[in-house]
Amino acid sequence: MYIGHYAAAAVILAVAPEAPVLPIAVAVAWPDIVWPALVFAGKESVHVDRDDPLQSRVKFTSYPYSHSLVLGSVISLVPALLAGAIYQSVFVGALFWIGVLSHWLLDAVVHLRDLPVLGWGSDDRRVGLGLWARPRLAFALEYTFFAVTVLLVAPQTMFVGLLGGGLLLHLFNINSFFGFTKKNPVGTPKRFATLALVGYIFAIIWFMMSWR
Ligand SMILES: [Zn+2]
Repeated sequence: MYIGHYAAAAVILAVAPEAPVLPIAVAVAWPDIVWPALVFAGKESVHVDRDDPLQSRVKFTSYPYSHSLVLGSVISLVPALLAGAIYQSVFVGALFWIGVLSHWLLDAVVHLRDLPVLGWGSDDRRVGLGLWARPRLAFALEYTFFAVTVLLVAPQTMFVGLLGGGLLLHLFNINSFFGFTKKNPVGTPKRFATLALVGYIFAIIWFMMSWR
């Protein structure tokens, strides 16, 4: 999931309007921001199907540190504490941690059963409701979920920036839902990880510019 994570950011900022936007925009994306670094470091792995661009064909073979519920949530206490220290606010730190948690919960809707629960042990449960297996529906629902959430919780003055920019970013992902190309243009794990990171840098900038 990509743009859908920003529905969680909108909810957090609607509930806590005094909170700074940057740490929240980073928090909801956090697992996908550390994930590329861990892929590059060889600590987590992914398999990209060169002959199929669909998101559902990407196999997240191992990503316990970035994308497990328990271990990932414990590890995310570190950036949460850091955010709390930077903003000198326990509240901001707590919101950061909640933002990270929201990422796993929303990922669990779309991912095929590959999200680890504990993050350790060979018999660890892997979950995921698998919406990505129905890619066109997933494409429509992710944006709908984001847009409806924005319409419900965001101030009206932000609608254009959030909904328009969000749609644009979502459209960048369209090939991985509709499979227009026969081959996967992002054919290797490292390129896939890099693209994820670049995508989130754009998303954070867009969200910072739109939520104010
Ligand atoms: Zn993720």
